[in-house]
Amino acid sequence: MAPGSYPLLNMAQGIVTAGITRLIGNTPLLRIRMFERDFPKLEVYAKAEWFNPGGSVKDRAALSMIEDGERSGALTHQKTIIDSTSGNTGIAYSLVGAAKGYRVKLVMPGNVSAERKALVVAYGAEIVYSDPLEGSDGAILKVRELVAADPDAYFYPDQYSNPANVRAHYDGTAIEILEQTSGRVTHFVAGLGTTGTFVGTARRLKDQDAAIHTIAVQPEDSFHGLEGLKHLPTAIVPKIWDPSVADEVWGCPTEPAYDLAREVARTEGLLVGHSSGAALWAVRRLAETVREGVVVTVFPDSGDRYISTGLYGSKAR
Ligand code: PMP
Repeated sequence: MAPGSYPLLNMAQGIVTAGITRLIGNTPLLRIRMFERDFPKLEVYAKAEWFNPGGSVKDRAALSMIEDGERSGALTHQKTIIDSTSGNTGIAYSLVGAAKGYRVKLVMPGNVSAERKALVVAYGAEIVYSDPLEGSDGAILKVRELVAADPDAYFYPDQYSNPANVRAHYDGTAIEILEQTSGRVTHFVAGLGTTGTFVGTARRLKDQDAAIHTIAVQPEDSFHGLEGLKHLPTAIVPKIWDPSVADEVWGCPTEPAYDLAREVARTEGLLVGHSSGAALWAVRRLAETVREGVVVTVFPDSGDRYISTGLYGSKAR
């Protein structure tokens, strides 16, 4: 499908003819106004990834990895899709698996938000919990154990190592950004989890125009509240991570990210998750130095996925 076109959506009748997975990608690019007063020459835009049917950017990676498995023959209907996930990828696997008729088993740290657990169960997936104290790395080790014990039973996409994760963004997200900004993008900012979003998008943007400046955002330290993001110096470094496409890697503190997530909800009507707050923190820091340009970032998911964490209620107005 050509990026930016919607051949399966009959606009006259509003009928989608080819299944829910065909609505993954082609998300809106929103203009963000919150920094405009201080930095009037800076245009800021964000990809609204919660418009994907599973509610997050991870729909893109899950679909890409599953369809890659179908093409290579590694995934058949006799196998169960298994992976470790802090939540959004699990929801995405569950949705795509349900739509395509595959069983899905997910290993997640016991402390992921209640909404995320409930969602994957709603799509019919099975959850195996790993030690919450070991975070996403504990989940990775647990899934490796399960696969090693019964390798023929599973299709293990391994989102941290799978080039199809990166490709979803190289062929999708980045092309959409180039089209939606008519090639005007000067800076790209995104958070690091598996690193697929950042690496795939930054690589394609730089292939298009090496002058596009790219900033990756990770939590400032290993104990943080930025669900979905990874502190690379203390984590199992994803195989797909490619530091050569990052001009800078910044460490974001948790509280300022939460503050910005709250602020963008109240001032612009955009209810976004923790990691979108981290993206905004980096955009603001960038604005202080560059002051003008066309900055594009990614808002990976919506804030309604974090209501039970107290993100919006923990501070008095
Ligand atoms: N934000 C959230 C909320 C996420 O769930 C993820 C995925 N772990 C990311 C950001 C980072 O995306 P990626 O895995 O593509 O680096």
